Amino acid sequence: MVGELDILSQWIPEQMQPGTVFVLENAGEVGEKEDPYWAVLACPSCGMLGLITRRQINGLIPVICGSDNAPRNSSFAKPK
Ligand SMILES: [Zn+2]
Repeated sequence: MVGELDILSQWIPEQMQPGTVFVLENAGEVGEKEDPYWAVLACPSCGMLGLITRRQINGLIPVICGSDNAPRNSSFAKPK
């Protein structure tokens, strides 16, 4: 669940601990129109940084590992 996530308002790489989210300055302007990239997430389990989309952040998709996150694979973006 998302209760564990921290939101950073500034990009501070040293503070991107696992479970941290940084909302992109150009959120919504990159990626696919219907589901643009929105933030960077440090995977809560391994700390790998990955882009997550608006749908993912809104729907709070069970957090996906950035190292596994294929940007074009929309199946990641659909909650079950
Ligand atoms: Zn991971």
